[in-house]
Amino acid sequence: MNKKSAKRTRVPPAPASWSSPSKNPSTGRKGDDDEEVVEKNIWMDPDAQSVDCGICFMPYESEVFMCSNGHAACGKCCLRINRKCWCCDQSIGDIRCRPVENILAEMNTVCKFSKYGCAEVVKYVEKRRHEETCPRAPYGCPIDACSYVGLDLHAHLLDDHDDTVNFLRATRVTLRKGDPFRVLVQKRNPDATGLGSVFLLLNGGGVLAGRSLSLVCLGPRPEGNGEISYKMEVRGCQPGELSLAATAPCIRELEGFEAKKFLFVPDADWGPFGSVAVSIRIG
Ligand SMILES: [Zn+2]
Ligand SMILES: [Zn+2]
Ligand SMILES: [Zn+2]
Ligand SMILES: [Zn+2]
Repeated sequence: MNKKSAKRTRVPPAPASWSSPSKNPSTGRKGDDDEEVVEKNIWMDPDAQSVDCGICFMPYESEVFMCSNGHAACGKCCLRINRKCWCCDQSIGDIRCRPVENILAEMNTVCKFSKYGCAEVVKYVEKRRHEETCPRAPYGCPIDACSYVGLDLHAHLLDDHDDTVNFLRATRVTLRKGDPFRVLVQKRNPDATGLGSVFLLLNGGGVLAGRSLSLVCLGPRPEGNGEISYKMEVRGCQPGELSLAATAPCIRELEGFEAKKFLFVPDADWGPFGSVAVSIRIG
């Protein structure tokens, strides 16, 4: 086993919330080279939530802030709560909690998606960023009342919701004004070993006198965090009148998502039956 793979697949040995793996528990001596690589770091139990931010329950990144009474919050939460402590109303966001930052910076842990096959060992302060883009993170089924969460959402949609999905190659998708989204999938390719892509054509509110249309990808995330560009056009209007060229963000759940770029379709364009025909081209 080479050095890299040995390190990546290593699992923290102790059930305590943190411990040092620098010594072999059976001999009490230092282990091989791999042990040398990680001995400077402390292992954190991946389920040890007591060290996460008490507001968003996410792992801290490199900066930890505290109010004058010692209540802590991550940088993103300080902004979210308008720099007023969630516990005592004192100002928070100026004072760093450096001893805690130093301890957290030394800690290693594993990705929370290890049960889905991610073998990455990550620094605790990089855990949040890793998990946001982890290639083994599962996707939840967007269809109402379906509880599927897994890695192959594409196969699940084709197997269990084939009456609901639209194929991406179809020239156009009919979208009713009241549909919050339509599911778009690639056709199943019997030779393909990779996972098929899933997209949602979102039909958002939040704009006056019309709807906001955009596309998001529900995985798999493209290699190297590449972007998925697309062109969308609403048919039936003047050619090119309602069209958009944008990139589809990769998201894992719809909740809380707001499209930054969208195609505005005014109320007047939804036709006598309250629907439009939308064509989408990926790439
Ligand atoms: Zn937070
Ligand atoms: Zn406080
Ligand atoms: Zn991961
Ligand atoms: Zn489902």
